[in-house]
Amino acid sequence: MDHFAIKDGVMHAEDVALPRIADAVGTPVYVYSRATLERHARVFREALDAVPDKLIAFAVKANPNLSVLKVLGRQGYGADVVSVGEMRRALAAGIAPERIVFSGVGKTRAEMAAALDAGIGQFNIESEEEGLELAELADAMGMTASCALRINPDVDAGTHDKISTGKADNKFGVPISEAGQIFGKLAGQRGVNLRGVAVHIGSQLGDLAPLEAAFTKLGELVTALRAAGHIITHVDLGGGLGVPYKQGERLPSPQEYGAMVARVTQGWGVSLIFEPGRVIAGNAGVLLTRVVRVKRGINDPFVIVDAAMNDLARPALYGAYHDFVAVEPDGSAMTANIVGPICETGDTFAMGRHCDRVRTGELAVFRTAGAYGATMASSYNSRGFIAEVLVDGDKFAVVADRIDAGSIMDAERVPDWLA
Ligand SMILES: *Cc1c(COP(=O)(O)O)cnc(C)c1O
Repeated sequence: MDHFAIKDGVMHAEDVALPRIADAVGTPVYVYSRATLERHARVFREALDAVPDKLIAFAVKANPNLSVLKVLGRQGYGADVVSVGEMRRALAAGIAPERIVFSGVGKTRAEMAAALDAGIGQFNIESEEEGLELAELADAMGMTASCALRINPDVDAGTHDKISTGKADNKFGVPISEAGQIFGKLAGQRGVNLRGVAVHIGSQLGDLAPLEAAFTKLGELVTALRAAGHIITHVDLGGGLGVPYKQGERLPSPQEYGAMVARVTQGWGVSLIFEPGRVIAGNAGVLLTRVVRVKRGINDPFVIVDAAMNDLARPALYGAYHDFVAVEPDGSAMTANIVGPICETGDTFAMGRHCDRVRTGELAVFRTAGAYGATMASSYNSRGFIAEVLVDGDKFAVVADRIDAGSIMDAERVPDWLA
């Protein structure tokens, strides 16, 4: 459930009519709903009520906006970060360092040092090589890094290939078959307190079975590690729960996920970490856009909007589906190709889409754009970065300024020998 709905014929975010935002800030613009973020944060947390000892760390890469992080931090969420840039955002949003988990397959030495300095709660180590380097670095700094070893459980998440992370040939984690041996090697190192294991098999999962399979394997590994004399106090179950992108689409609910987790992890006797991203932020944002013009096509017309693949990359990247709806629908429908202005055929949001009728100059939204939206933007075609707005009841604020193409050009230098 989200707080984007038609009231008196006009789509609102909570109590703010979207044309008000378009008039004040321009389009395209991302619009987030605080009430929706808070609702999703609460629903996910309550779904895990049966898990006594836990940290829910929002996956910052899904939506790193400072104000979004602030809203979630106030809901008691920690942060899962994959770069020092994300770590700095989480800290700037007031999230305590001990509630930050640092994941990612390519942490640099400088990033590890910065994270040790900041006192973050846990490093999720993705290889033996990384573990050895972190151990040496932390020891040299006179510190001990709390760590979990990320396991690649070799399960097919059944999602899009580009967002699957838990198959044997993916770059993430260490093979579960070698986990015991690598754990043994790293656990003996000075500079690290290897206290657990972690898993994250992919994103936009529409089925709980692969998650359950991965968690079950992880539970068996915990038993084996303990039998080998290791002390396991933390297990990180990652993120991955999908959200409905189409009206009426049915996905596993947080409640079903929570019940499965409680059942599978019963008796593990560990503190559990969760890293939800999309399920918290996805339906809490829309991309508000204006129709530049409608162009005749051979079959269906092309609705050319002012948003493009550089603003919302998911359709071009994964063939992802986003609902496209009019802000002031007149009740009539059309079949159209929804495209952006960028000079790539890939800059297509939908082909042959049955949707609300929209005309030149009218406003429309792409729904479910609160996760992996603004965060994946580029400035391709010298379009700059669009603004982000947060709505709270009947008020709204720009929470990220538009960065225009001129400002980006200002960061470029022409060398003397070209002047
Ligand atoms: C991306 C990512 C997540 C979040 O995934 P969602 O599908 O958005 O829940 C969690 N953990 C790790 C390690 C990730 O890379």
